[in-house]
Amino acid sequence: RRIQREGDLSARVRLGDGRDEVYTLARTFDELLDTIEAGVKREKQFTSDVSHELRTPVSVILMQCDELLGQETLPQELRRELETIRRKALNMSRMIAQLLELSRADQGRAQLELEDLDFSELSEMSVAEAHTIAAQKSIAIEAKIAPGLHLVGDQTLLIRLWGNLMENAIRYGRESGHIWVTVDQLDGCIRMQIRDDGIGIAKEDLPHIWERFYRADRSRTDSGSSGLGLSMVQWIVRAHHGEITAESEPGRGTLFTCLLPLKNKN
Ligand code: ADP
Repeated sequence: RRIQREGDLSARVRLGDGRDEVYTLARTFDELLDTIEAGVKREKQFTSDVSHELRTPVSVILMQCDELLGQETLPQELRRELETIRRKALNMSRMIAQLLELSRADQGRAQLELEDLDFSELSEMSVAEAHTIAAQKSIAIEAKIAPGLHLVGDQTLLIRLWGNLMENAIRYGRESGHIWVTVDQLDGCIRMQIRDDGIGIAKEDLPHIWERFYRADRSRTDSGSSGLGLSMVQWIVRAHHGEITAESEPGRGTLFTCLLPLKNKN
């Protein structure tokens, strides 16, 4: 039950030697786990290899686009087409970078740079940055951030956490809508909440939004959406020993709540 609950595929039942059915069953479970563990490992390696292999050709496409776009004599129509190719290649290159990062995390090769951080300050900064993108959709952001909340964390990753959640709140928010942000303290944790009044997420999609490449609305493939943002968010939160949940009402909006352990005072 523990192996199932914790998803630790390297654990085994290891009942030892014995002759009755229970021992045979336990051995069979262990053999099955060997097969599953090897399969999952292969898949992770595959993702990592594929991302590596794709990095170079995509950079070449981007470079060639830039070179051609730099030619002043380029006909207008060709320029527009090239710009589309460049935009798509740029999305692809971002997706590959995210995939590589996630696969590094999967394989336990991600290195966190931990330091004492003023999370309140980091939050203020991240929300301020989101204002510019939100303004393009006339979305108003209201933030209540309690001062002086510290944690031990990786600054780059926590900025990314904010960035991904705010980007989603804007992308799936409605024109002239609102985003409410709060950061406060709750039972030894920092609680950050991001609520929007956008399109919301259907009940059947909600459990899957953390999965890689899962998009509730597959028709919205443009605008730089990759379906990797929330997988990254979940990984960052877990790497900081926190938890994150989402609640949503379709047509009304979505609330993300994230709890991160406060820095120990001692
Ligand atoms: P994407 O790059 O598609 O935004 P994410 O992993 O960040 O990928 O999100 C996965 C899916 O979850 C999105 O495609 C969208 O359907 C849904 N989603 C995420 N955040 C929100 C939100 N604030 N409001 C509504 N839907 C959301």
